[in-house]
Amino acid sequence: MLTLKGNGCAEGAAMGAALVKTAYVPVYTMDRVEDPQAEIAYLDERIASLAKRLDALYEHTLEESGEEAAELIESYQMILMDQTFFDGVRDRIRKTGLNCKMAIKEACEACRESFMAISDPYLRERFGDIEDVCFKLVMACDQVTDALEDVRLTEPTILVADTLTPMDTVRLDKGFLAGFIVERGGATSHAVILAKTLGIPAIVGVQAICSQVKNGSHIMMDAATGEIIVDGDDAAREAFQAILRAGEAARETYRKEPLGPAQTLDGVAVEIAVNAGDADSSQRLDPSLCDGVGLFRTEFLYMGCQDYPDEETQYQAYRQVAERMQGKPVIIRTLDIGGDKALDYMGLEQEENPFLGYRAIRICLDKPAMFKTQLRAILRASAHGCVKIMFPMIISLAEIRQSRALLAECMVELRQASVPFDENIAVGIMVETPAAVLMADQLAAQADFFSIGTNDLTQYVTATDRGNARVQALYDPFNPAVLRAIYQTGQAATAHHILAGVCGETASMDHMIPFLIGAGIRELSVSQGALGKVRYLVRRLSAEQCQAAAKQIVQDCADSSQARAILAGLIAAIR
Ligand code: PEP
Ligand code: MG
Repeated sequence: MLTLKGNGCAEGAAMGAALVKTAYVPVYTMDRVEDPQAEIAYLDERIASLAKRLDALYEHTLEESGEEAAELIESYQMILMDQTFFDGVRDRIRKTGLNCKMAIKEACEACRESFMAISDPYLRERFGDIEDVCFKLVMACDQVTDALEDVRLTEPTILVADTLTPMDTVRLDKGFLAGFIVERGGATSHAVILAKTLGIPAIVGVQAICSQVKNGSHIMMDAATGEIIVDGDDAAREAFQAILRAGEAARETYRKEPLGPAQTLDGVAVEIAVNAGDADSSQRLDPSLCDGVGLFRTEFLYMGCQDYPDEETQYQAYRQVAERMQGKPVIIRTLDIGGDKALDYMGLEQEENPFLGYRAIRICLDKPAMFKTQLRAILRASAHGCVKIMFPMIISLAEIRQSRALLAECMVELRQASVPFDENIAVGIMVETPAAVLMADQLAAQADFFSIGTNDLTQYVTATDRGNARVQALYDPFNPAVLRAIYQTGQAATAHHILAGVCGETASMDHMIPFLIGAGIRELSVSQGALGKVRYLVRRLSAEQCQAAAKQIVQDCADSSQARAILAGLIAAIR
């Protein structure tokens, strides 16, 4: 029995027989060809043959897995049709007599350099598509077909690979494909996108799994914990069966949970809102599923543009969200760039400590013209729904005052131009720095609401980089220091009669929810997939019991395991 661990990305647990994708390793040489024209003709013939295979693959995927999965193949087809790229390859062959495999490799490497200069991690990862198409073409030049292309699955299968591409997976029978495990790739890699599309679990970043697992090995994987058991004994299998049954039963239960407002058993209303901002989540906004948008991350809009989006572009985007939510509140967070999110056109300098540096509200206050463009756009959108403004990364009263002063200037300008907006627009702040927590009572007097950003608050309170895999064990929101910070913020908001929400990932963590309710949090903003679960849990908790538990935790708990144990008791009582 072998136990391995990686990062679970798409939720769920699965077990099945391993299908290990053995890597094809092409041999590249600098050999020159005698007849470059004939080599170019061979390249074109290979491109045409790959294009034909992709066409068939597209149809197959559309039928088997639907439009979203087929779009991935479409992106491959588009790359293969990119004449500028392949003219570059042809030029290399024509001018230097290089063989076509090497010419493809060199063109791909040149492309890598320009992609690596892109700061947006999502766009950067899209270089993987180009690399993959080039690789398939090199295989086609060697007349080799993909190892997985002719595989027929006959039993539940866990695909294990160093990296996975859509082309690796679409031909496999989805009825039997139970999960993906890959050595490389991040949270936005195609393996994860595909797993989410197919609704199956995925674990990435599992070092050297390909060399440790054989075809047919029995694999159990739990994407919730990132744990993998290979050829487990009877006891391990039995324990895992219980996880599988519990997962399925829980999903079924959440699916059945009636929509509508949520309140605790003792009648305390808790708003259940959704996080949005990236293209996908914004497209799928549905007011019937939630009480509003608790966090609209505007940086995605900026990241999707080549230059600062102008007021009109932003206004249209925010207006669309406001209208789509049909009067339910939409909290639009002003630009939160910096840290791990950069914008090329902003020309930000590399910093030694980006999370402690030029980030979010600091940049906006430093660039008032840019900030005011966004504020005017948000104000204009407020005429079309229930829009609220939220400032990120606040550490002082001065920042709220300065931000409000700029907002007031924008209001004057709009009034003068007779442009409608909500004169009473609510203005809140994210509480995600220790400074904001310590000053929460005073900040509450200046803000209409709080939303606790526990993703950042955890990293700042525990001095643990949220993106650094080596210190992930320390990045623990159940650390009593983080829990105290949340509690203190909730108490300050309650005392000042303003709403405190949580829009970080903790808002959808089973064991954290009772603590948040007990701390006085009255809005939980989560990803769309978690809405059913959160609604289910809130409706089955007693706010009074949650309060007692939260109080006990902040008074008595010395470490996170004690806190977790108390909270686990409340959740276990529900199930
Ligand atoms: C947070 O920090 O918890 C948060 C919601 O903001 P982001 O993850 O965008 O930094
Ligand atoms: Mg944050």
